[in-house]
Amino acid sequence: MRIYNHLAHKVENFEPIEPNQVGLYTCGPTVYDFVHIGNWRTYVFEDILKRVLQFNEHNVVHVMNFTDIDDKIIKRAKEQNVEFTKLTQKYEEAFREDLGKLNILPADFYTRATEYIAQMIELIERLLKKGAAYKAEDGIYFSVEKFPDYGKLSGLSKGNLKKGARVNDDLYDKEAWSDFALWKFEKPGEPSWEAPFGRGRPGWHIECSAMSIDKLGEHFDIHCGGIDLLFPHHENEIAQAEAATGAKFVNYWVEGEHLLVDGEKMSKSLNNFYKLSDIVAKGFDPLALRYLFMTAHYRSKLNFTWESLEAVQSALDNIRDLVASSKEDGVGEVNADHFREFSNAVGDDLNMPRAIAALWSLLKSDLAHDSKYATILKFDQILGLELDKVEMVPLPVGAQELIKKRELLRKEGKFEESDKAREDLAGMGLEIEDTPEGTKWKVKK
Ligand code: AMP
Ligand code: ZN
Repeated sequence: MRIYNHLAHKVENFEPIEPNQVGLYTCGPTVYDFVHIGNWRTYVFEDILKRVLQFNEHNVVHVMNFTDIDDKIIKRAKEQNVEFTKLTQKYEEAFREDLGKLNILPADFYTRATEYIAQMIELIERLLKKGAAYKAEDGIYFSVEKFPDYGKLSGLSKGNLKKGARVNDDLYDKEAWSDFALWKFEKPGEPSWEAPFGRGRPGWHIECSAMSIDKLGEHFDIHCGGIDLLFPHHENEIAQAEAATGAKFVNYWVEGEHLLVDGEKMSKSLNNFYKLSDIVAKGFDPLALRYLFMTAHYRSKLNFTWESLEAVQSALDNIRDLVASSKEDGVGEVNADHFREFSNAVGDDLNMPRAIAALWSLLKSDLAHDSKYATILKFDQILGLELDKVEMVPLPVGAQELIKKRELLRKEGKFEESDKAREDLAGMGLEIEDTPEGTKWKVKK
């Protein structure tokens, strides 16, 4: 399998540290509101990556965090006059429910920041001891100057570094490259925890380094997120972890591109976002959204429109009809040629548009039904479109043969006879439709 590694700035062969074992960490949501479908694009891409690894017989240990304490959560809880934990519990539950609707495989571990305060404190103490962090009046900061490799992931040059400048905010842009907060000292009315270097709460970046190290070790295989996390979040995670351990943190950094609306990033701050429930309220299947995400390469931007969602919904309906028509009692052998086409596509830096094309070419092929169905099920281990749940519609005795005979008659141009076959099938209660993908049939209502 080949994958684009942001650390190497190129596509590389994937080699796990331990044969067939993969440690995978994906940055999860900040649970102060419902996530939007832009976020879902990232979580679906990560799910596909995980499924491809499993498909290649790797045993994946997947960790995802919930950021359940940060500036945004504190602000929102104050506005709503509720305990912050009440807010975070509600949105964590909503998130987990939606994961299932998009057929995203659950992680092996969900780690909440507030449950890893001790590990974060320990990591900060290591950094203080090594001189990579220092105490200022409002918190503990990481000294970017002390980590010569800073910038290696995002490829930014040190020219942007403002000596001695500090940021307390969790989000800052490239121009403000500077020391960042590991720990923020207590403020009145805000949640805080006891620590040897002073009561307070963690900065955002430290949680992912602490939780991934705790669950996957100081050196693991893959770390993922959306492209906006590359800098500063992931750059800072590397700095914190490697300055503390003195060794390489993660081998592969794999990041997904954004979902756009009208050419702009879908985000809460621009107020141009839709939630999964908005899609469902308009009558769309959440899996149509999953399909839509797969029509673009994960490293390309994808512009969301309702028209494109309508188009993929009808494509998905067509796929289901074709699957229902090819389903038979017995499951045959996976077809090697079609399988190769599909697995080459997914192994080529997760080229899902090509994988989808391989699915269509399989559906349109005249493979024996049992073999076609077995191959579809194999593809769906990665696609995750729940094609295994498509109901088989039992055909009346003799109908299958008659459908095949009619197809042959049409090919031979014997239209009178094929029309007669259509009438006979109608007599059996079947409605026949000739499509570019082959003959489809439905039981008449
Ligand atoms: P956040 O809650 O903002 O930290 O985002 C959660 C995840 O969604 C992160 O991996 C982000 O990079 C990702 N993300 C945020 N906005 C978008 C977007 N418009 N398209 C794709 N991914 C996004
Ligand atoms: Zn993170």
